[in-house]
Amino acid sequence: MKRIVILGAGTGGTILANTLSRKLTDWQITIVDNSKQHVYQPGLLFIPFRLHGYETREDVTKPIKRHLPEKVEFVSAQVLGIDHAANKVQTSAGIIEYDWLIMALGCSVDPEAVEGLPEAMGKTAQTFYTLEGAMALQKALDGFKEGRVMLSIAEMPIKCPVAPIEFVFMADYYFTLKGIRERVEIELVTPLTGAFTKPVATHVLNEIAAGKNIKIRPNFDIASVDNEKKTISSFSGESFEYDLLVTIPPNVGPEVIDDSGLGNGAGFALTHPGTLKSKKADNIYVLGDNTDVPTSKAGSVTHFEAEIVEANLLREISGQSPIPDFDGHSNCFIESGFGKALLIDFNYEVEPLPGSFPLSKVGPFSLLKETRLNHWGKLAFKQVYWNLLLTGHLPGDPLLPATMSMDGKDLSQWHPHHG
Ligand SMILES: Cc1cc2nc3c(=O)[nH]c(=O)nc-3n(C[C@H](O)[C@H](O)[C@H](O)COP(=O)(O)OP(=O)(O)OC[C@H]3O[C@@H](n4cnc5c(N)ncnc54)[C@H](O)[C@@H]3O)c2cc1C
Repeated sequence: MKRIVILGAGTGGTILANTLSRKLTDWQITIVDNSKQHVYQPGLLFIPFRLHGYETREDVTKPIKRHLPEKVEFVSAQVLGIDHAANKVQTSAGIIEYDWLIMALGCSVDPEAVEGLPEAMGKTAQTFYTLEGAMALQKALDGFKEGRVMLSIAEMPIKCPVAPIEFVFMADYYFTLKGIRERVEIELVTPLTGAFTKPVATHVLNEIAAGKNIKIRPNFDIASVDNEKKTISSFSGESFEYDLLVTIPPNVGPEVIDDSGLGNGAGFALTHPGTLKSKKADNIYVLGDNTDVPTSKAGSVTHFEAEIVEANLLREISGQSPIPDFDGHSNCFIESGFGKALLIDFNYEVEPLPGSFPLSKVGPFSLLKETRLNHWGKLAFKQVYWNLLLTGHLPGDPLLPATMSMDGKDLSQWHPHHG
């Protein structure tokens, strides 16, 4: 029996285990993960603020197996090596051979990469990019009465590049509700030129931040953290004081990808941006946060990529060539507090623009604009994720096509040569 092995049972791996097992009924599909729990990572943003429905670990985790079809074999093991010349994966549970391999191992934060940060973690510094971190930050915020909360992005790329700006917007809302906003300073320190990676969205988000009295400190390349002095310093010698540091440490891909000769040196797999095939091995596809393709590392991207990988893999299995269809499509709600959110929709070429989504004029969602409906969309996404997205049942066209549609986009502010 022919075998597809999927590495990683997070967003991307789970979707493909579901969709491929429905299409390839006479293939064995095996999925490997070192965790037994699937974390709904967008919920990590809300845990620190105790948003309703996001207070405990159980609110954002479910057993991995619950979302896998019966006939898919789940191997609970660490992936230790990929021998792509011999079509074998080495795991802590033994060697697994494959005909086709799909890599969806995600990425993780590495506090060790910033001098002084490991010493500060759990003391004056916290992160919401892990479940443990988000729970610890919840406690730190419970006890925070006054002073400066500083959100620091160490370097790009990071997964969900809008999560830091959402965090400071939510912090403004949280401290306002607690009645202590005037005693708390909120700052975002970033290596970027502003609140986001692309100019039109950066302008909109900078304005919203200014309106909420949130200071953005751009172009800051962090060199070190001093837990005793409670300061962060840059390579160019700038230094800022904080009372609570909320850090997004450098995001790194899995070491096993580099060690197996498939990576770019930072753990991200060298991936063809259109077909999503590995650049290093002909029978390997890659999706999600562990690729090196130049778009956001986001669940939405992973979901769109899963559709492209599924189509290309089925093409190859039936003797056809893969098609370089993936355009970098990304789609994200940006929670801005007080029951509102924005929505952005973009790809490799087209930056986030104002307008309506998914349909021109009708919407119903608004792009790059704070609305209540966008907020409800963001909250509803949790159920959509568990019940439709992971099982591969989320409708594509015209609601959420894998490739971006220009329908509804307002091009008047777009200057492609700047983007
Ligand atoms: C705070 C936060 C907020 C976010 N908000 C949003 C949002 O609002 N919208 C959005 O679209 N995206 C959001 N994301 C990003 C989204 O969660 C990820 O992009 C998405 O989960 C990526 O899917 P993946 O399959 O690539 O990786 P993951 O879902 O992370 O899965 C990777 C899997 O691989 C396993 N694994 C890793 N290494 C090994 C190994 N060596 N051996 C065995 N198993 C291994 C892990 O246990 C994990 O189960 C957010 C992320 C964070 C951290």
